[in-house]
Amino acid sequence: MSFINQWLRSDIQEIQAYHVPKSQNMIKLDAMESPFIVPEDLIEPYLVYLAEAELNRYPDAGAEELQQTLRNLMDIPEDLDILLGNGSDELIQLLALACGTGDTILSVEPSFVMYEMIAKFTRLNYKGVMLDENFEIDLDATLATIEKIQPKLIFISYPNNPTGNAFDRDSIKKIIKASDALVVVDEAYYAYAKDSFLSEVSNYPNMVLLRTVSKIGFAGLRLGLLIGNPETVGHLDKLRLPYNINTLTQASANFLLKEKDRIAANAQVIIEERGRLFKELVAIQALTVYPSDANFLLVKTPDANALFEFLKDNGVLIKNFASHPQLSNCVRVTVSNASENNALLQQLKSFYG
Ligand SMILES: *Cc1c(COP(=O)(O)O)cnc(C)c1O
Repeated sequence: MSFINQWLRSDIQEIQAYHVPKSQNMIKLDAMESPFIVPEDLIEPYLVYLAEAELNRYPDAGAEELQQTLRNLMDIPEDLDILLGNGSDELIQLLALACGTGDTILSVEPSFVMYEMIAKFTRLNYKGVMLDENFEIDLDATLATIEKIQPKLIFISYPNNPTGNAFDRDSIKKIIKASDALVVVDEAYYAYAKDSFLSEVSNYPNMVLLRTVSKIGFAGLRLGLLIGNPETVGHLDKLRLPYNINTLTQASANFLLKEKDRIAANAQVIIEERGRLFKELVAIQALTVYPSDANFLLVKTPDANALFEFLKDNGVLIKNFASHPQLSNCVRVTVSNASENNALLQQLKSFYG
């Protein structure tokens, strides 16, 4: 037996590593990234701004300026506090670290895979409650499970990844009210959604909101935020590593995220493209397309593996759920700009003839 095999926790040995496929020179529609890059007219002043960053110093530990930038960008009310993470993934991990031995994380299935992975990393239990056939929360089953297993943390992706729908608002409120858990409403896709729980945070002591800049054009910055009541954020902040948001991320965000109007305009382009792509996909007989409030579409196909391989061979990368227990033969495609969406449509039309 190798050293690492006898040294490493057996449950970690059994975990399947989060797989990031090779994507060089491909049209990348697998990870809900934005197609929009730094605008031409900002490149020069951005570089000047970056050059002033003091890389010999540790980052601003509290990242006060960045917090204010995000407050302005997302209209976060003054009575709520912000906890910054190296991506919202880090904040999911931080919330798990706040739990105790034997505690359980609850979410719905299918949803964002990191909730369960991070539960495993941190030696917590995980329970997923199945969504119903319309990918809606099964409220009776969820409330019964909460009652029975008394979870410590509940994650609700709103809208949900990978199904794309935003769950019934009242169901989420009932879950928050019925539970002693901290309920985390994960709004990674807020920019593409019609609704938000931001205005509810101050109403519920046992609720916090997660957001990220990853899905609005800045996945490379690795910057997420938890929005919560000051007392909650104050305690959770003790678990944050002191300089978790690096200087280049802080500087880049402080410069680029001030462009609130352009960021909103880019999101609007994606929302319009989502509508167009949806209609075009519905018109392909072989496909079933699910409605989405996010920057991706879930699509049921006759043979997801075959489609995935065909697209890959033709330079288009999507997410394949062929072997997922509840999403058999489904794929997920990021909504991109018109030219990338057209490239996808052209391949699909040729595949389904
Ligand atoms: C993409 C995604 C995240 C991860 O965001 P990062 O800030 O890039 O870590 C979190 N939650 C959901 C539901 C996501 O889809």
